[in-house]
Amino acid sequence: MTAPLQVLAVASEIFPLVKTGGLADVVGALPAALAAEGVLVRTLIPGYPAVMDRIAIGETVKEYPALHGGAARIIQTSAAGLELFVLDAPHLFARHGNPYVGPNGKDWPDNAQRFAALSFAAADLAGGAVRGYRPHVLHAHDWQAGLAPAFLHYRGGERPASVMTVHNLAFQGAFPAELLGAVGLPPKSFTMDGVEYYGKIGYLKAGLALADHITTVSPTYAREIRTSEHGMGLDGLLRLRAAQVSGILNGIDLQVWDPLTDESLPARFDAKRITKRTVNKLALQSRLGLAEDPEALVLGVVSRLTWQKGLDLLVSAMPMLAAQGAQLAVLGSGDAPLEASFTAAAAADPTRIAVQIGYDESLAHLIQAGADAILVPSRFEPCGLTQLCAMRYGALPVVARVGGLADTVVDANEMALASKAGTGIVFSPVTLDALELAIERTAALWRDRSTWRAVQKRGMATDVSWTRPAAQYAALYRTLVSSRAP
Ligand code: ADP
Repeated sequence: MTAPLQVLAVASEIFPLVKTGGLADVVGALPAALAAEGVLVRTLIPGYPAVMDRIAIGETVKEYPALHGGAARIIQTSAAGLELFVLDAPHLFARHGNPYVGPNGKDWPDNAQRFAALSFAAADLAGGAVRGYRPHVLHAHDWQAGLAPAFLHYRGGERPASVMTVHNLAFQGAFPAELLGAVGLPPKSFTMDGVEYYGKIGYLKAGLALADHITTVSPTYAREIRTSEHGMGLDGLLRLRAAQVSGILNGIDLQVWDPLTDESLPARFDAKRITKRTVNKLALQSRLGLAEDPEALVLGVVSRLTWQKGLDLLVSAMPMLAAQGAQLAVLGSGDAPLEASFTAAAAADPTRIAVQIGYDESLAHLIQAGADAILVPSRFEPCGLTQLCAMRYGALPVVARVGGLADTVVDANEMALASKAGTGIVFSPVTLDALELAIERTAALWRDRSTWRAVQKRGMATDVSWTRPAAQYAALYRTLVSSRAP
């Protein structure tokens, strides 16, 4: 029996307390999965109102009389089954709504200070600021926590191993160089092998340069980000550190995503009672005002509406979709022009196209349980979670061959079908033509209902849990810790 390993995770989001995307799902689900591997995770998160309202105010373990312009403290507590440290700094985090963007739709002007504070507190905790707490590993997630490995590095002395995980390289957190002193970094840190990034302070870059190890959320994305096409300016550094970069797929929380117990569904089901999905399909059609027709192929989308997700191509594919007799159910929010295009398409053909702009957990579940297929035509996709939910819920994933989508969905081509393999439709390149061909293939498969059923059932039998990824994280932590042992 190996001794429990203590990990301090630091992130700006954690499901179910605060979420804008997949980052929150991962940070929220990993602790329970890692507990089964003998790894104890405690996560440091900012004290947003959504967090402060949900936690029992626990013990104050550290006080900062002045942290970026105000008093702050770290509270040790738990909520929703998660062991937490909360950075209670009202002057930085007591703001409702989206964690990064103010009411005017612009980034909060002090985001540099807000997330420097979070990262500083993480490094402080990791360095032993709280008596009796000495984690073996500091695990920083995304740019908001990117300075944590940097602070840890520059403070010197004994320190735990550090891991930087990239959930999406598109979000990098770059701030003016003049803020170096204000965010608490030493002048010597502003170098190419430190925090300097094209003349600015790069928060994610700092983590990538100074953490002992880098992970990202799929093996394919781990390779893609080392190319100039997908590296977003960081590919040079990632090539340099290739030996310390690995890809570990995300899983999904099988309790949150369980079609047999899901309270958002009018009909619960599993692979044996797959025909009950029809009840959910009819409920979805009725709720969204689509023609209530169990025979119509219903394509679903649950997504941020941004360029990354390739959904502008779907807007262009609408005429062809109608020609195939398919219906479309879209749930999402994001870029205003894309929201407007979808809304206009739905207004023009409301019994065939339905769009709900906004964020709605329960509708997301109903779409996964009622749509026949889920479209994910992303231009890049670090891992992607919706295709995993789709497989679990018996919706066929129709995905672009990029990043984690390429690693998780097996294309149901002729040879795959002949060998009883294939869990969805995978297409490339990410163009309108290729998307239309993928929709055409989906419609053809839908007409061959017994083959469809076989593909659907293989998807449902695919292991999309956290079990294997958690074992990989645990193995990585142990390797890093043992390589640092004296
Ligand atoms: P990303 O993190 O890039 O947004 P992922 O596929 O990794 O994409 O994760 C998205 C997560 O957010 C999934 O759990 C998905 O179900 C959920 N989601 C996205 N948009 C919505 C929405 N409008 N309403 C409800 N859930 C959503």
